[in-house]
Amino acid sequence: MTGLDSLFERAARSREVFCNRTLNLRAVRAIGYDMDYTLVHYHVEAWELRAYEHLKRRLLADHWPVEDYAFDPLLVTRGLIIDTELGNVVKANRFGYVKRAFHGTRPLPFDEQRRVYGRTTVDLADRRWVFLNTLFSLSEGCMYLQLVDLLDARRLPEVMGYARLYRRTHESIDAAHAEGELKAEIMADPDRFVMLDPETPPALLDQKTAGKKLMLITNSEWAYTRSIMAYSFDRYLPKGKTWRDLFDVTLVNARKPDFFLGSNPLFEVVSEEGLLRPARALRDGAVFSGGDAMLVERTLGASGDEILYVGDHMWGDVHVSKSALRWRTALVLRELEAEIVALEAFAPLQARLRDFMAEKERLEFEQCRLRLELQRARGGLTRKGGPPIQEIERGLSERRVRLEELDGLISPLAQASDEVGNQRWGPLLRTGNDKSHLARQVENYADIYTSRVSNLLFRTPFAYLRSAQGNLPHDVAQVIAAAAPS
Ligand SMILES: [Mg+2]
Repeated sequence: MTGLDSLFERAARSREVFCNRTLNLRAVRAIGYDMDYTLVHYHVEAWELRAYEHLKRRLLADHWPVEDYAFDPLLVTRGLIIDTELGNVVKANRFGYVKRAFHGTRPLPFDEQRRVYGRTTVDLADRRWVFLNTLFSLSEGCMYLQLVDLLDARRLPEVMGYARLYRRTHESIDAAHAEGELKAEIMADPDRFVMLDPETPPALLDQKTAGKKLMLITNSEWAYTRSIMAYSFDRYLPKGKTWRDLFDVTLVNARKPDFFLGSNPLFEVVSEEGLLRPARALRDGAVFSGGDAMLVERTLGASGDEILYVGDHMWGDVHVSKSALRWRTALVLRELEAEIVALEAFAPLQARLRDFMAEKERLEFEQCRLRLELQRARGGLTRKGGPPIQEIERGLSERRVRLEELDGLISPLAQASDEVGNQRWGPLLRTGNDKSHLARQVENYADIYTSRVSNLLFRTPFAYLRSAQGNLPHDVAQVIAAAAPS
C-alpha cells in the first residue's frame, strides 16, 4: 500500500464511532470533554481495587466484619441496576423488565426472579433503583452485594434494611473519594493507574487546528486535573506544547450534573497551587472552578446543537446535557472494545444459532399447519384432496423429532451467546435477543458512542457521521438479512 491509500485505512470495528443520530462534526463549533474515564482512562481493576480498599477500611473502623472480603471486578458491570428495596442487582431490557438478577452475591434462580419481578418494571425515576452509570460504580456495587450477604446472615452490628444499607455503602464510598487520599495515591503513582493513549492528544490537536473551541469540564479538582492531564497528554504533544494549549476553556470542580441544570458560582484558579478568586466571565486559556453550562454558551456565543459534549457518565455527562440543553452528546464506553472483539470471535457460532433458529421457526409453522389439518380432519372437515390422517400424523412426528434435536443444539449456543463478553451478565447493550436498559439510554441520549476519545482521530474533525436506518420488525432490511446465505 502506497501514497494516498494508507490514509484510507479503516479503524478496527472495536474502535469505530457508532451513530444514533446523524452528527455533522463540521457544524459543531465547540467540543467539551469530561476527564476521568473520558480523556483519561484508568486501569479499572487497579483503581476500583483501591476505592474498594478505602471503603473497606471505613467499614472496618465501624466494626463491620468485612476483613475477609475482596474486590471482585466481574461481580457487577456498568448498566446494571441496584434494587435497594430487595438487596438485588438486576439487568433489565429496554422496557424495564428484569431479565437477570442477583441477590447479594448469589444468582437468583429463574423461578424466584419471575416471582419477584413478574409484575415489576424498573423505573429509574424511582429512588428504589440505582443505575450503575460509570466504571467508578463497580467497587460500590461489589461491596453492596457482599454486605447484603452479611446482612442476611445477621452479621452486621446494626439492624437495617437493604435501602439503608445501600445509603451507608454509598456515603462511605463518597467519603472515600472526597477525603482525597485515593486521588493522592493515583497522583503519586500514575503508571499504576492511568492507561495512556498516545492517540488522544493528537485527536484533540486536530480538532483545535480545524477551528473547534475545546473545553475541559471535569468534576475533579485542580491539583488532580493538572497532574493527571500533564501526565497523560504532554508527552504526546509537539515540543513546547502542553495540555493547557489545547483547551480554550478549562473548568474544574464543575459539579456535573448540576453544571448543566442551573447557575453556579465561578472562580478563577489564579495560581498553580489552586488559589481561587471570584470571577464573572470566562477567559481564553485561563482555568476556572465551578461555573455552569449557560455561562459556557454565553462565552462561546454558541448553544444547543453547536456544542458536542463527550463523557463516560451516562447520567451526569450525557443524559442531562442532552435533555436540559440539547447539546450534541457522545458517550465513551470503553468496555465496548473487548466486547466487540468477543462478539466477532463468536460470530460463526452466532450464525449457526441463527440458522438453527430459522429452521426451528419453519418447522414450528409447519407443525401448526399440520396440527390444524389433523384437528379439522378428526372433526370431519376433511379437505377434498387433503392428505390422509396417517400422513399428517407421520409429518407431525417427524417434525417433533427434529425440533427436539434442534432444541438440544440451540440451548448451549443460546446460553453461550448470552454470556459473550461477560459470563454473569452477558453483553453490555443486550439482554437475550433484546436491547438492554443501558442500550435504551444510550439510544435516547447519546448521539454517538464509542470506546474511546481517540477513535475520533480516525474519523477526523470533518466527519459526517450518519445514523443507520432504524431496524423495525417490518423493515425490508430484516428481510434482506434473513435471505442472506449463511
Ligand atoms: Mg468521567
